[in-house]
Amino acid sequence: MQNPPLQVKSVLIDEKAIQRRVEELGAEISEQYPEGVVLVGILKGAIYFLADLSRAIKSPVEMDFVVASSYRGTESSGAVTLSTDLSGKIADHHVIIVEDIVDTGRTVSALIASLQDKDPRSIGVCTLIDKPDRRIVPVPIDYCGFTIPDKFVVGYGLDYDQAYRNLPYIAVIA
Ligand code: 5GP
Repeated sequence: MQNPPLQVKSVLIDEKAIQRRVEELGAEISEQYPEGVVLVGILKGAIYFLADLSRAIKSPVEMDFVVASSYRGTESSGAVTLSTDLSGKIADHHVIIVEDIVDTGRTVSALIASLQDKDPRSIGVCTLIDKPDRRIVPVPIDYCGFTIPDKFVVGYGLDYDQAYRNLPYIAVIA
């Protein structure tokens, strides 16, 4: 299968800016949770963010993953499919959901609801990118890397039909 040609229109957030911000978020989380946290990453988009963020956190970190999908191309299907079988236990642990981008809010909202059943001590939300103009379901965001206008972005984990995830920066495609 061949990927479409790379059509990066402009780089919105460069590699250095991402690294700097991830370090800052890691420092904030370390300070707030000296006893440690469980990071729950939403696959696939949050892979690089979670990998970098976890290394920027100086307190103990455990990690787990859920799989979510709602997008086809640049359009959300509206229905969120979540598979939330965690490999570890989160009861009595501080949990931080790690998301690549919060758009309508449906994914994070559905995940919060499903994690609540597992009796965590607390649930926080950390997103690399927030697109507040598109919000349909309100979600509490505790840590946010960057707020952007309503543009479809790729890179640093974010895809367009599974392509472009490995770009080291966040870009707008043509
Ligand atoms: P929500 O449930 O908040 O509408 O959507 C969250 C998911 O939609 C994200 O995890 C991401 O997979 C996808 N998404 C939303 N906006 C964008 C975007 O600008 N670019 C890409 N690549 N995915 C997006």
